[in-house]
Formats: sequence, C-alpha cells, structure tokens
Amino acid sequence: MITNEYLDIQNQLLDRQRKLKKIVGSIEEVPQLVGLLKEVDAALERIDNGTYGFCITCHDQIEKERLTADPLVTFCLDHLDKSQRKSLEQDLELASQVQNTLLPKNNIIKSGFEICYHYLPAGLIGGDYCDLVVSKNETNNLYFILGDITGKGIAASMLVNHLYALFHSLIDLDLPLVDLFNRVNRLFCESTLYTHFATMVCGKANSNGEIEICNAGHCLPVLVKENELISIDSTGLPVGLFHSFGYSSQKLSMDKGDSLLIYSDGLSEARKGDEEFGVERINQIAKRLFNTPAAETIKIFLESLDNFTPDSKSSDDLTLMVIHRLE
Ligand SMILES: [Zn+2]
Repeated sequence: MITNEYLDIQNQLLDRQRKLKKIVGSIEEVPQLVGLLKEVDAALERIDNGTYGFCITCHDQIEKERLTADPLVTFCLDHLDKSQRKSLEQDLELASQVQNTLLPKNNIIKSGFEICYHYLPAGLIGGDYCDLVVSKNETNNLYFILGDITGKGIAASMLVNHLYALFHSLIDLDLPLVDLFNRVNRLFCESTLYTHFATMVCGKANSNGEIEICNAGHCLPVLVKENELISIDSTGLPVGLFHSFGYSSQKLSMDKGDSLLIYSDGLSEARKGDEEFGVERINQIAKRLFNTPAAETIKIFLESLDNFTPDSKSSDDLTLMVIHRLE
C-alpha cells in the first residue's frame, strides 16, 4: 500500500534508485554502491508493503525527523546498534560544540544598552537561536535575535546554524529591518524542508534608545517601563513557512531604566503538573523590574522558575534575553 505520508520519501528514494542504478551499471562493481542500492530497493519495498517507518526491533514508529533526514533508517533511537549509537553520540557532541561556539558574547554593554542572556538547551543541543550582532558599518546598530525552531535534535541545531549564517551575512548590508527579515525568511524557505520553521523575534537598537522589532509568531516580548508594561504583538507568521510573506515591524523607544524581556516558550510553557508557568506570571514579575540591571532580571526569572518547578528537568530549550537601557 502506498500511503501519502511517505510520498515525498518515496519519490526521493526512486530518484536515488535511478541514479545509483546508472552509476552501478556504468562502472566496475563497487560493493558499497551495490549495498546501498539494495538498501534503497528494500526501503521502497517497505513503502509498498506498508512496513516502512517502523523499527525492525520493537515495531514502534521511527522518529519522523530521522526518516526525513535519512530515509534508509530501520531502527528507532532506542534500538540502534552499538556502532550506530556511537556515531550518533559523536554527531551530537560535535553539533553541541559547534552550537556553543556560535553563541554571542554575554553581558555586553553597547550603545547605551546592557544585554544579558541565559541559554539552556533541553538536551546536549538545542533548537533555540539566540544571537546579538553589532553591525560593522558606521551605524553600529545592535541586532538582537531570539528564535525557536520546530523539532529537536541535530536537524534543529543545523537550522540554528543556518539562521546564524543568514543573519551574520545579511546584517552588514544595513538593510531596513523589515527587508532584512523578509530576506532571511525567503532564503530560509529556499533552503529548508517545509516541515521546519521558526518563531522568531528580531530587533534593532540604536544609541538614541530607539528599538525596532519584528515578531514572527514568537512569545510576546515585554517592554518594562517605569509605570507601564508593553507586550509586543506578533506581526507575522513564523519564518520558513511562506516564501512571499511580507513582515512588518514596530518601533518603540527605551528610556533610562527600561528593560526589554524576550524569551522562548521554555519559560512560558514550563510545567508543574497541569499548570504552566504562563505569560500572566511572567508579566507579574516583569512589572516589578523597572530599573533592574539585566543580569539581575535574568536571575529573578530563573529563581521564580526554579521555585515553580524545583525538580523537573525541562523538556524544552530555555532562552531568556534582557536588553536594559542604561542612559
Ligand atoms: Zn525500536
């Protein structure tokens, strides 16, 4: 039986089968290629007889993301053999090292702002993208970005790296923020699978205290002012969904003592039983944080989170970023 579910994978495998047959037929027999062709044939057969996507050992469904990344896998993560497990561990270790080198400098002071962040992936690697970039041209604008990629594991972390490369190569062009964001979205759409997208907040701060923000379907950032709390609404769909989507931005100004809090759903959706940490609680805490240094604000949130769920190991990546106006 051919299910629609695997139609993409089936087409991909048929294409590989054609290419491999051509190569195997045209050169002297290479055992590795012949072996590969057999694996592709077997995967196509499994699609035909309805057994594709199930672990050979436990017959449970194989993780969808792994099938998308490698349509030839036949075991679920729990039933990899020793050498497969070792390879996976090495890949994770390496991906984690790469990811750590891409994190921005923490506790920076720039253009009258003090910026701190806290980044804690749920596992060895994460799908949150946290970045601070100062443009190298004379504007010296400060860009802050926090994104949350769908999915987990190596695939999500590779997409974090991809977004990093896109932003770092485009920021120096000094495009208006909306144009920068539209371009990131288009390039991200072009180069990733339709199954992957990212909610994201991307902002630009200048030395006058003005900030401009695009919020692409992400948890609402909160601007803490002396007597007011402003939630920054989403102005667009997550990045990577629609090529032609046009984003818009919001402009706000920050005065001395104001703080902008940006977070991933690892904070708002942290759970204690059925109860969520929640946006309401975040706003209640934020109300008291006017004139609080960035590092202190992060500490207060982490303590509240720890009081809320002292023992639970989070299943989601947690990122918090605080941009505090000093002058
Ligand atoms: Zn299994």
